[in-house]
Amino acid sequence: MKKHNFSAGPSILPEFTIEETIKAIQNFAGTGLSILEVSHRSKEFEAVIEEASSLFLELLGAPAGYKVVFVGGGASTQFAYIPQNFMKTKAGYVNTGVWASKAIKEAKLFGEVVDVASSKDKNFNYIPRGYTIPTDLDYLHITTNNTIYGTELKTDIDCPVPLVADMSSDIFSRPIDVSKYAMIYGGAQKNLAPAGVTFVVVKEDLLGKVDRVLPSMVDYRTHIENGSMFNTPPCVIIYSALMTMKWLKNMGGVEVMQRKNIEKAGILYNEIERNKLFVPNVSLEEDRSLMNITFVMNPDYMELEKYFLTFATNRGMDGLKGHRSVGGFRASTYNALPRESVEALVAVMQEFERSH
Ligand code: PMP
Repeated sequence: MKKHNFSAGPSILPEFTIEETIKAIQNFAGTGLSILEVSHRSKEFEAVIEEASSLFLELLGAPAGYKVVFVGGGASTQFAYIPQNFMKTKAGYVNTGVWASKAIKEAKLFGEVVDVASSKDKNFNYIPRGYTIPTDLDYLHITTNNTIYGTELKTDIDCPVPLVADMSSDIFSRPIDVSKYAMIYGGAQKNLAPAGVTFVVVKEDLLGKVDRVLPSMVDYRTHIENGSMFNTPPCVIIYSALMTMKWLKNMGGVEVMQRKNIEKAGILYNEIERNKLFVPNVSLEEDRSLMNITFVMNPDYMELEKYFLTFATNRGMDGLKGHRSVGGFRASTYNALPRESVEALVAVMQEFERSH
């Protein structure tokens, strides 16, 4: 039976990425060695990291002055690195969920944190809007896609202070105006690669403005100066990321992805709205994520919740269980998920409705 992978992350990758990674594991760039065992200093791997860096910036459409580095430690490590690199005294955070809250907790270790806006009052099921951003902040931190709740800020906001965005779960899903951001970062394990690498895109001239002493690994300048090779990078994962970026470019880039993502999400949200058994977790359409589509059982049919999960799983739907803090279901519809998987899920939802 064909499996449809709706997992929130690590998550579905393009077949091209998996096939090319397998080839490189067997024989990397004609070296007769596996990419698992070659030196990161080999000329073949240096070519990989250089191409991955330039393609990343190209696909994002980053203007001059921005650099990308690939580092370890996950997005969670960046929660502590960001304030160390950018916070002199005070930073603002928009609290839109668990990940934003974790970022806030780390930032508080290094200075004052202003809670600029929050959607905590409604279990993070909306995107705060209309708030005032104080102009004396060293930076404002936002999370553009809230993987757990299924909310997404799908526009680039105007911000009077340097804007730092966690784009772990929506990088490359739509065109963005990079010039509006001081830094964009995220774990790779959704739209880019297997877990194990973190991307950091940063406006270089904003670095080096804080007085605190930074350990080498914490200072983004270290990684920029060394082309992501200050220490041994996760070579295989970066190779996979490069393959995904090649696939993305070949598909037509982020504009095409956005169109496909809108179509896929539209099909699923329409069915959630139409089907008497389900209700969307996020009511405002403009706040609904195109990457993580969360829905719960209509309260009148709550007793069917566990049956639907088994029903769908038995029909090849994988990774649909919602996060425990929301409950219900979450269908992650990342770039690599084909439209046919969304249609298959809709068919299963309709079949379940007919049988109840
Ligand atoms: N931010 C967001 C929006 C996430 O979805 C996640 C992970 N799911 C993280 C941060 C944490 O990433 P990591 O596991 O790479 O530390």
